[in-house]
Amino acid sequence: HLSKRLAAVAKRVPDQARLADIGSDHAYLPVFLAKQHRIQWAIAGEVVAGPFENARSEIVSQGLTEQIEARLGDGLAVINPQDQLDTIVIAGMGGTLISDILTRGWQKLSGSERLILQPNVGEAHLRQWLVQHQYRITSEEILKDEGHIYEIIMAVKMAAPVHLTDQQIQFGPQLLAQPNTAFVEKWQHELARRQRVLASLKQAHHVPAEKVTMLTETIASIKEVLAHAR
Ligand code: SAM
Repeated sequence: HLSKRLAAVAKRVPDQARLADIGSDHAYLPVFLAKQHRIQWAIAGEVVAGPFENARSEIVSQGLTEQIEARLGDGLAVINPQDQLDTIVIAGMGGTLISDILTRGWQKLSGSERLILQPNVGEAHLRQWLVQHQYRITSEEILKDEGHIYEIIMAVKMAAPVHLTDQQIQFGPQLLAQPNTAFVEKWQHELARRQRVLASLKQAHHVPAEKVTMLTETIASIKEVLAHAR
């Protein structure tokens, strides 16, 4: 039984994919997909020995050693051209770590893989990485699970440069176009948090003027987006 968050990630994996789940921990995602006959084959990649052992024993106990291979290694180092992957999932980590994994392993990517990324924080940083590396965001999702709000970002490599506005980078191009209640809740929360920071900055001495200006601009941009989302 998957969490609502991982179930939403699973739903984005194309039918009969050849998948790498990087940072797989217990391999719950590939195990779920293999049991449903939704994937051809998968790698469960892990860099830490404990989670790697968890992944391996879960695969063995579910009788899925033909369908899923646990591999120990850093990020995309565990994948090879012979694997003929078409889908890469990196879920449940910060956006900075996800983009670091992609940067360190970019030569392992053929460019034809679909990326399914689920950053816990740092979504804007990840979207910036995608734009800089000529990935187009094909779809996005935002959902609430157990009191946390999560974003899922699907991306594919393009032959030509990709452009997003600053607003699209910050809020997500697809999420901005179709804001739902989770989106509104997230940004109401972010707005309140930044307003608190600004208020305390104004009380403090020797605060750099640029810091106040930047925060004021961010607050204005969140207010503008929220005004259009309701
Ligand atoms: N992907 C699962 C999910 O979304 O529920 C597990 C998320 S868990 C919070 C993050 C996992 O990523 C941990 O098991 C951690 O060991 C692994 N991890 C962190 N950095 C990694 C890297 N560079 N390469 C592979 N795995 C990594």
